[in-house]
Amino acid sequence: MNLYRVKKSGNSLCARITMNQSSDEITFVEPEFAPWDGRRVPVVLLGGYLGAGKTTLINELLARTDVPIAVMVNDVGETNIDAALIERHGTDTLDLTGGCVCCSLKNGFLEAFDDLRSKATPPELVVVELSGVADPINASGLVSTAGFQLDSIVTLVDIEQFDKWEAEDSVVSEPVRAQVQTADVVLLTKRDLVDTDQIKRVKNRVTELAKDATVLLADSIHSAAGLVGLSSRRPIPQIGVSRTLFDQHRVSTLPLPEGANEQEINLILDDLPSTTVRAKGIARAADGELLLIQVTGKRRVVEPLPVAEITDPTDLVVIEAG
Ligand SMILES: [Zn+2]
Repeated sequence: MNLYRVKKSGNSLCARITMNQSSDEITFVEPEFAPWDGRRVPVVLLGGYLGAGKTTLINELLARTDVPIAVMVNDVGETNIDAALIERHGTDTLDLTGGCVCCSLKNGFLEAFDDLRSKATPPELVVVELSGVADPINASGLVSTAGFQLDSIVTLVDIEQFDKWEAEDSVVSEPVRAQVQTADVVLLTKRDLVDTDQIKRVKNRVTELAKDATVLLADSIHSAAGLVGLSSRRPIPQIGVSRTLFDQHRVSTLPLPEGANEQEINLILDDLPSTTVRAKGIARAADGELLLIQVTGKRRVVEPLPVAEITDPTDLVVIEAG
């Protein structure tokens, strides 16, 4: 097990809420050459206020898969990621302390990607546990460096606490709202602790804040981990994988027309149901170029596939939650 510590001077929790605390200046220089022959590792930013279940979700994710997942934890206190699970995976955990990666610890965040870049083999997925006060959108701008690509911003919302946090003063309510507003997918957690009225009320409020994001009521942290696990570089298996994702879910495939251009593909994606959690496929454009299509909640990517990631065209696999 490799445990890194990237510590910076200053002890602010988040520059957003600490007066007179300037964020550190970016001194990072992006490498000229992409690692791993140009392959890119997807990065999931996991946001959510304190106690929403981020650490539990990551432990669950590590427990249910054997693929190498690198975890970055921007925790204020001690890291609670299960060391035994990390050991089993041969995974790297990068423990980012002494600041918040969305503001006061930007350099430390970039250096953590540098550490991963120095590995001979890339991980399958990077999951970043953001600090409870981080604004995911600030961190997202730092992710897509050589060898990495932002996959999605997933925010966990504790249904039991959400009303309370939102009614607090701006130090609490601002990050809580920002985390929802910038998410591609919002997962509502702790449903077992509240009645159906509260679930309904919080879901409505979160949907209003999150606008186009997909808002899902997680059956359990187990199912929520399943959603994040689908972010890995591997294509979505067409059967089986999402059986445990949500009680009610549908997996379907749509043929992608041969020779479709980016615009035509976007029209197909426009027609996907609003309950789409994830869609992924590879289409061959008229000029023979392969296009990678990825949808995660409101995030959509249609782009040429890098040479190192070339594979045969596929159907579009669509996962919907009920
Ligand atoms: Zn911050």
